[in-house]
Amino acid sequence: PVRVRFCPSPTGNPHVGLVRTALFNWAFARHHGGTLVFRIEDTDAARDSEESYRQLLEAMRWLGFDWDEGPEVGGPHEPYRQSQRMDIYADVARRLREAGHAYECFCTTEELDARREAARAAGKPSGYDGTCRELTAEQAAAYRAEGREPIIRFRMPDEPITFTDLVRGELTFAPENVPDYGIVRANGAPLYTLVNPVDDALMEITHVLRGEDLLSSTPRQIALYRALAEIGVGNGSTPLFGHLPYVMGEGNKKLSKRDPQSSLNLYRERGFLPEGLLNYLSLLGWSFSADQDVFSVEEMVAAFDIAEVNANPARFDLKKAEAINADHIRRLDVKDFIAACEPWLRAPHATWAPEDFDRAAFEAIAPHAQTRLTVLSDITPNVDFLFLPEPVADEASWAKAMKEGSDALLTTAREKLAAADWNAEALKAAVLAAGEQHGLKLGKAQAPVRVAVTGRTVGLPLFESLEVLGRERTLARVDAALA
Ligand code: GLU
Repeated sequence: PVRVRFCPSPTGNPHVGLVRTALFNWAFARHHGGTLVFRIEDTDAARDSEESYRQLLEAMRWLGFDWDEGPEVGGPHEPYRQSQRMDIYADVARRLREAGHAYECFCTTEELDARREAARAAGKPSGYDGTCRELTAEQAAAYRAEGREPIIRFRMPDEPITFTDLVRGELTFAPENVPDYGIVRANGAPLYTLVNPVDDALMEITHVLRGEDLLSSTPRQIALYRALAEIGVGNGSTPLFGHLPYVMGEGNKKLSKRDPQSSLNLYRERGFLPEGLLNYLSLLGWSFSADQDVFSVEEMVAAFDIAEVNANPARFDLKKAEAINADHIRRLDVKDFIAACEPWLRAPHATWAPEDFDRAAFEAIAPHAQTRLTVLSDITPNVDFLFLPEPVADEASWAKAMKEGSDALLTTAREKLAAADWNAEALKAAVLAAGEQHGLKLGKAQAPVRVAVTGRTVGLPLFESLEVLGRERTLARVDAALA
């Protein structure tokens, strides 16, 4: 049975790289009818925060992910927060030492740095040089007497490590490139290098799908896995690994957590739909089909195949993300669209007083907005003309639309609008006729009307907007523009 894990560290705000990793693991688990384990890697007290943990869970829920084991749902391998599993790691570290797979290393940072520099200068591999590999009890005691505190280091095998990456195919790492590495700090705190594979072993993870930045830890983890199997931790098998390609941002640089563009909150605040964002993120390294890039999450799950993930870096393209999101907005039932807009109809987004909001008017205009929005936050400026006592006064728009002769046009338009039946079709005919009288095509004739009534040069279809706004308010606004 497939068992995958999503195991973020709760530091900072959730970012799109993290979401893509969660998505691919979730889709893989669901595609195979497997289990998704959600584990919190919070062993770094200096960087982890409760606030970030809370945000992670909340983000997972917002995105629509569910997990079979982990926080809030429990499971057979509880607890799922590594900060609550410290006894396990201490015990495993001790057993690794007893079995000779790990050893105490007393080298100081200064010593390590100096030797690394020297090795570099000599053109030799610059990883740990094995100084403390075969320390005798006497040497260790002497170091202790000097006041040195040892870290625990894992002893890498002296032969190459080969594995078949699910995305990249067969990879081999030579021993000189994978030196012995620290697994427990001098103060006893276990490191990622230990806790991550120990939990993967104990939680019987079968497939590890994660970012390419972790590729260099894989040979170490595979060696550690073998050692764990020997000392009876886990079920003795090693998971398969698949490394998801880098995501490149602006200027072809790796998108980093610190890039504002990578913050999940940014997409939420702008009004991406979870399914629009997930659809886009799935395309970072994978493709649904050659001629279709808009699809539902269910369609993705049905089609997802890790073997089709591309090893080449993927480029993050905001315009494409927006276009895909726009498509997902169009696909909603209008009542779901209305519900999705809700947060943007209230403070702090809404610019109108709550008592001026008119739900019937909003529902009447909503279908016209649904076919035009890219992100939900755009709803606010598009409908504010309905709820503000006066249209927004945007000097630039006025200047642009109110060219010479627009007073004459508006005067005629006002007469014709006043005489028209109050429906979009009749209102359009009225403005068309006013334009004809002044030698203006519809587009030119409606521009000053739009600015007079909505305060803006662009917006939802004008005549439907006037119909919803109503005769009285429309005419009053035209009058105000003429005054
Ligand atoms: N906690 C690690 C991270 O967030 C997990 C890496 C992994 O998937 O092995 O980077």
